[in-house]
Amino acid sequence: FQNSCRNSCLNSYRVDRLLSWATDLLTDSETARLDAEVLLCHILQKDRSFLFTWPEHELNEQQLSDFRLLVAQRQKGTPVAYLTGERDFWTLKLAVSPATLIPRPDTELLVEQALTKELPENATVADLGTGTGAIALALASERRQWTVVGVDKFRDAVKLAKQNARSNRINNVTFYQGSWCEALPDDNYHMIVSNPPYICCDDEHLSQGDVRFEPETALASGTDGLNDIRIIIQQAVSRLHNGGWLLLEHGYHQAEAIQQLMRQAGFSRISTILDLSGHDRVTQG
Ligand code: GLN
Repeated sequence: FQNSCRNSCLNSYRVDRLLSWATDLLTDSETARLDAEVLLCHILQKDRSFLFTWPEHELNEQQLSDFRLLVAQRQKGTPVAYLTGERDFWTLKLAVSPATLIPRPDTELLVEQALTKELPENATVADLGTGTGAIALALASERRQWTVVGVDKFRDAVKLAKQNARSNRINNVTFYQGSWCEALPDDNYHMIVSNPPYICCDDEHLSQGDVRFEPETALASGTDGLNDIRIIIQQAVSRLHNGGWLLLEHGYHQAEAIQQLMRQAGFSRISTILDLSGHDRVTQG
């Protein structure tokens, strides 16, 4: 009986059986069931509620073989977002590629915090190392009067960010290629935000899980993880309006060092905000 069940599960075309089959295969992932659901939704071009409403729905041959291929790639470690080519962030659906970091829920804290700032109606805001454009686009979509600029060192990232602006119909944002503040077209920003690379370059986190597939340039920054943050703080001083804000995402053990760097650079009103797990995550000043 067990063998025939295993065979029929493997050969099944039904949504519910395929989900169990894939979940069992994806044991290396901490989110096996969710991964299976997201991949299947991608194949079916449906949202997740469909899976629960129509567990007996059957895939066609092509869909079945496509699903198997995705599950096999996920088994080898490829992040789900690179397999589906998209990721939800804030209220937006963003195209992602291996050229960029996959936007993380943690970074929504930075967006939330930025939106608490009472800036002039027509404020100018910059996002450094924008990647998919996630932060810049979230801010621009919430504040249509702001002019938002996103910059990234890599051409493929800038291309992707522009594509995401178009697909989400966000017009008050522009993207430029270049390094941190050097790429900004103006001075006098009311706010500069960034989720820069901040992991120590010999941290074992870099060789584990999904992170292995993401660009190291978006993750690692010297032996203490602060190389790029040091540069950004230095450069941001002369690019901010009087009283303008700098907001930086960082690792949970870096708040003190970053607060000190900001103080030395002349920032005031410096504080650190905790993420949902109670870790220091964003420092502002
Ligand atoms: N928080 C991310 C991680 O731990 C790192 C993001 C970043 O370096 N900007 O994978």
